[in-house]
Amino acid sequence: MARDSWGRSIDYLRLSVTDRCNFRCAYCLPASFAGFADHAATLTDDELVRAVSAFAALGFKRLRLTGGEPLVRPGIVALTRRLAQVPGVTDLSMSTNGALLAPLAGELARAGLRRVNVSLDTLDPERFKALTRFGELGAVLEGLDAAEGAGLAPLKLNVVVVRGLNDGEVPDFVDLAQGRALHVRFIELMPMGDAGFYSEGRRVPYAELRAACGALEAVPAAELPEGGGPARVWRRRGARGTVGFISALSCGFCEDCNRVRLTAQGTLHACLDGAEGVDLRGPLRSGLDARGLGALVAGALARKPKSHDMAARSVGAGSRFMCQTGG
Ligand code: SAM
Ligand code: SF4
Repeated sequence: MARDSWGRSIDYLRLSVTDRCNFRCAYCLPASFAGFADHAATLTDDELVRAVSAFAALGFKRLRLTGGEPLVRPGIVALTRRLAQVPGVTDLSMSTNGALLAPLAGELARAGLRRVNVSLDTLDPERFKALTRFGELGAVLEGLDAAEGAGLAPLKLNVVVVRGLNDGEVPDFVDLAQGRALHVRFIELMPMGDAGFYSEGRRVPYAELRAACGALEAVPAAELPEGGGPARVWRRRGARGTVGFISALSCGFCEDCNRVRLTAQGTLHACLDGAEGVDLRGPLRSGLDARGLGALVAGALARKPKSHDMAARSVGAGSRFMCQTGG
């Protein structure tokens, strides 16, 4: 089992398979953003499999495919199948905006994907279009149904809450987790990248969000949905699903951090925040073996910071856009 210099066990790799996206969510990317990397700079399927194998040899068990939007990567089903077969990877999941999920959910499940987190911030079609700039709510809802039908479970919904935009819908999302085995995760807005959106006023702190959910009860540890991560998890009495909170600024989530991120261009970031990164693409392309790659990963873990530094930023100008880091 790999550990960082703060004694945390690190066994979870979030792998960005592309920095491209079919949406431009207002808090993630500027509307006119076109600064995506060249295809030649993006790791190939073979390189991704070699990289993941090196992480697995160090004891990484959990792998999440993310992006950008992972489903826009050509050949994503075939890549998923190869990654699911890497020895040592026991939990393969994906974060997606869900727009392309409906036709792919069954194939992805058969390829070895176990579960998905679908990002969905509003249940209002007009608001959804305005927030994502390109999205159709109906396609995402179909994607959710398809994921449920394909047995991609536990099925989680990531909801970034923004004051004045979708904060009034918090109770509707709690309702959604009542009759359906859907696990809602309210995510606090973070100052990532200069998308021109973040402000302290738009961020809804944990205590306020929790109050807006009404009465919730604790979920016994044995009944927590798999892959809990940094979420604090509750549920309404009698509900099939749960309600969780990921509050990077209000509560901090670094104490139990178990993850690192690899960008689509092969830069390893030991922390979501901060500029430091280790290039794995050069070594992969020059033929470094799994042991050598593992040594580079271990070096990055040794320098993993104790906590992020987002609170020090009063307005949103973090170093990278979330879609570039692999959120
Ligand atoms: N495209 C996929 C999706 O939207 O799920 C995967 C990548 S996306 C960058 C991963 C997650 O990051 C999404 O749930 C998104 O809502 C979240 N995210 C992006 N920018 C954020 C920000 N500034 N603050 C909080 N969450 C953010
Ligand atoms: Fe794309 Fe996900 Fe960023 Fe939205 S949050 S722009 S879907 S990468």
